[in-house]
Amino acid sequence: MARILIVDDSRLIAHVAKTILTKQGHEVILAQDGLAGLQAAKSEHPDLILLDLIMPVMDGYQVCQGLKEEDSTKEIPIIMLTSKAEPADKVKGLELGALDYVVKPFDEGELIARVNIQLRLKQLYEVLQEKNRQLRELANRDGLTGLYNHRYFHEQLSKDFLRARRYHESLSCILLDIDYFKKFNDTYGHQTGDIVLSTLGQVIRDSIRDSDFAARYGGEEFALVLYHADRPTAINVAERLRQMVEHCEVRDKDHVLHVTISLGVATFPHEQISNPKQIVECADKALYKAKENGRNRVEYFR
Ligand code: GH3
Ligand code: MG
Ligand code: MG
Repeated sequence: MARILIVDDSRLIAHVAKTILTKQGHEVILAQDGLAGLQAAKSEHPDLILLDLIMPVMDGYQVCQGLKEEDSTKEIPIIMLTSKAEPADKVKGLELGALDYVVKPFDEGELIARVNIQLRLKQLYEVLQEKNRQLRELANRDGLTGLYNHRYFHEQLSKDFLRARRYHESLSCILLDIDYFKKFNDTYGHQTGDIVLSTLGQVIRDSIRDSDFAARYGGEEFALVLYHADRPTAINVAERLRQMVEHCEVRDKDHVLHVTISLGVATFPHEQISNPKQIVECADKALYKAKENGRNRVEYFR
């Protein structure tokens, strides 16, 4: 069952088509001229449009063009309804983006068959789009932690950084690294190491705002981008995260483990930071300082 918009100034044709399609279980909307059809397409979001070519005020070609110009209507499949069997008219309609045509007076079976083909193609197209969306999402994620991956982190950071620079807004980057992580692997095995990583991923996910952005930067290193966060705000976030991790119990089959992290914060605007690469480098320097100064602590790039 689909929503089908019929745009035709002939009440008879519109009525016949409506009867046929309603019998097939479809919901049918009627519009009696081009302008009303264009408006109905925008407001009713039909799955398919049957479009008469010859109409007063605004003809089918103009409607077709109007539909293709709007993002909300450009993907709706169009079948032309034409009483003229002239090839040139059909070609013109097809060139403007209609997918098929039916010559009036139409045969019931043919109308149903052509409508069904377009509805099926639309459905397949939507499935394909959804799969593509899922694939894109997967390609941006780290498999172990579910956070974004290194590549996507840089993509997103670049966008956010340019935006912050253009609009004179603050942006902070936090790099964090698990303290003595190698010890977990060496003592309890790689699998337990992985549990530590995914648990930390969960803690990070739970702790950030929607506008923030977290990624697994490398092996046991994570990165956060905080938009609209000045230095004190970012340090606060980092410190809160440090404490959350410190108090979190990581459980594998046989053990309850405690983990600590070291964090480095860098904030834009800063005289030494003028591009996305530099803010990461500065956060990394601060992280190095946190390690040097004893671990399980936050340092910021001054
Ligand atoms: P530090 O406090 O100085 O950061 O010491 P560290 O032991 O945490 O750092 P180091 O860089 O020496 O060791 C990091 C280890 O992380 C080495 C590597 O085998 C391990 N590692 C990296 N990726 C993964 C992973 O996906 N799973 C597991 N289990 N271990 C990983
Ligand atoms: Mg480490
Ligand atoms: Mg490391």
